[in-house]
Amino acid sequence: MGDAPSVRDLGEFGVIDRLTAIVGLPRDERLVVGVGDDAAVWRSGDAYVIATTDTMVAGVHFLPEQVAWSDVGWKALAANASDIAAMGGTPSFALVTLCLPPETPLEALKDLYRGLRECAKACNVTIAGGDVVSSPVFTITIALTGEAARALDDSPLLLRRDDARPGDAVAVTGPLGSSGGGLRALLDGRDESAVMHALIRRHMRPVPRIDAGRAAVTANVRCGMDISDGLVQDLGHICAASSVGAEISFESVPVDPSLVAAYPEDARMMAATAGEDYELLLVAPGDVLARASAALQAPLTIVGRIVEGDPRVRLLDASGKDVAVEHAGWDHLKRT
Ligand SMILES: [Mg+2]
Repeated sequence: MGDAPSVRDLGEFGVIDRLTAIVGLPRDERLVVGVGDDAAVWRSGDAYVIATTDTMVAGVHFLPEQVAWSDVGWKALAANASDIAAMGGTPSFALVTLCLPPETPLEALKDLYRGLRECAKACNVTIAGGDVVSSPVFTITIALTGEAARALDDSPLLLRRDDARPGDAVAVTGPLGSSGGGLRALLDGRDESAVMHALIRRHMRPVPRIDAGRAAVTANVRCGMDISDGLVQDLGHICAASSVGAEISFESVPVDPSLVAAYPEDARMMAATAGEDYELLLVAPGDVLARASAALQAPLTIVGRIVEGDPRVRLLDASGKDVAVEHAGWDHLKRT
């Protein structure tokens, strides 16, 4: 590695640490949640604004020859809306920045915006502006704001990563691994069956769990995030932020039947480790989660619990033995 590390050596989270050190700790008292959560939150007048940004790069996040541009538009906004849902908030306004190779066909952009419009309608988002620049590689960056629900005393109701406590239960809002199955089907060139189509759709058209996030904060859940990098890795972020450990019962991780049909041997491990399902991960005492679950159309699934100790996530089989995790999740700079 030598004296001059590259971003690949440091990885995504190492880079964020180094850059945050330059900016320093924020001093503005209006800031409620800063770097290190799904989105930032600040007070603006009487409201609490939630803000996030997310980027998709051709060749990195999707292969243009394998997917529809309308799906890219949908997913770019859905990933952002999911980060607002992950804070328990409601999305509101989006700014869209396009970096375009000059030879990009206009029809591709129109398709992109048709998908974007569909997702905006589904999530009740207004596209309020943006920027278009020339670039050697196609990139779409969306910045999205949202609003936090408020308690009777006007304090914001938020799902944070740093509020997990030993004894809390860990729940997810739906089956996991389907998006990873869809990506695998795309990479393997396997789009021959209805099962594969269903998985690919889960990969390209994820539905942000905005209602689930709001129901959770209303039911007094205070800790959570969205599952973008994989259950084991994302729960690890909550453990690190909260200085606790966690145990997941491997058998209880919910798996979509389509994923079991497509990849029977790997389905449950994919559900525990694959990313981009954009379901929510919720952490709270069992009775609080039961209340949140009762308010949802699809009930929550309890997958584990928070324990005292080192901030690590153990995956346990039915007899309480550790299950080896081959691939814990995704690091965007190490690309592993
Ligand atoms: Mg997130």
